[in-house]
Amino acid sequence: MVDLQPVRLGELRKANVPLAVSCPLCSHRANVDPVRVRGPDSLDIKELTSRFRCQKCLRHGGMSVTAETKPWVWHLRRTRQFHRISPMMKMIRDEGEDEQA
Ligand SMILES: [Zn+2]
Repeated sequence: MVDLQPVRLGELRKANVPLAVSCPLCSHRANVDPVRVRGPDSLDIKELTSRFRCQKCLRHGGMSVTAETKPWVWHLRRTRQFHRISPMMKMIRDEGEDEQA
């Protein structure tokens, strides 16, 4: 069973994992340093969807906000939080493995 517990802003700050913000309208994607995002460490990053404006089409709010997948999966593996790794995330290669294969 995958435990879909929320990803907290403080976890990303501590693990130095960027937020991946993407726009549902134009598919523009940007990474945001969680240290630069205002909010308590306990904040569920899903609460941040209304905070961002798309730099490309200028849509405001409704953004998709997730932890940047690769560094987040690596962090979960390093910290042995395997219950939080979804089947899709299991496809991510290990840190240091050849990324160009
Ligand atoms: Zn956009």
